[in-house]
Amino acid sequence: LFAGPVDFVKGVVALDGLPPADRAEVCFAGRSNVGKSSLINALTGRKTLARTSNTPGRTQEINYFALGAAHYLVDLPGYGFAEAPRAVVARWQALLRDYLAGRATLRRAFVLIDHRHGIKAPDAEIMALLDRAAVTFHTVLTKADKVKAADRARILDGVRTALARHPAAYPELIVTSSETGEGLATLRAEIAALA
Ligand code: GDP
Repeated sequence: LFAGPVDFVKGVVALDGLPPADRAEVCFAGRSNVGKSSLINALTGRKTLARTSNTPGRTQEINYFALGAAHYLVDLPGYGFAEAPRAVVARWQALLRDYLAGRATLRRAFVLIDHRHGIKAPDAEIMALLDRAAVTFHTVLTKADKVKAADRARILDGVRTALARHPAAYPELIVTSSETGEGLATLRAEIAALA
């Protein structure tokens, strides 16, 4: 699907560290512990490509991965850590805002939401940032294997209702599980189709 190697490229802490804007890129955003690293690993078939959360020093970096020769997957720092110092939060919000507004090759964002919990305040904040930057986004539900089939529709209805307030949101939801592989092919195809 992605012709060429899948690999970690670099961690970026400031906009002047971004790699050359010579490929279509997508970014993944989500609260800490949402399952973002697991999803990136499952998506790429590389068990340890993205380091799981809470790796000291990595948490505030924007991590670039090459998906073949034509795409970058950009792993944004996890947000929503209540204990993060105010100055750290402010710095990352500024970096994120500048990145979203200024990256000409950014084609789409994927906002990861824990299927069990739905959209919470920090997720809505990120979505509002994406609205303002006019970066269209898909909502990806993670850890679907942890949700009983009987509960899924109710939770997804709540997510759809919340998304209706966000002009940059695609209405389609991508339901995934890194455990079972559910939704991974759909997500891969969405990314690969972007040029
Ligand atoms: P990150 O902080 O968003 O990068 O989250 P991680 O990928 O580190 O995952 C956080 C926790 O959720 C870990 O204990 C994972 O094993 C678990 N996890 C991640 N994805 C899934 C999933 O699809 N299903 C289940 N059952 N657990 C998951």
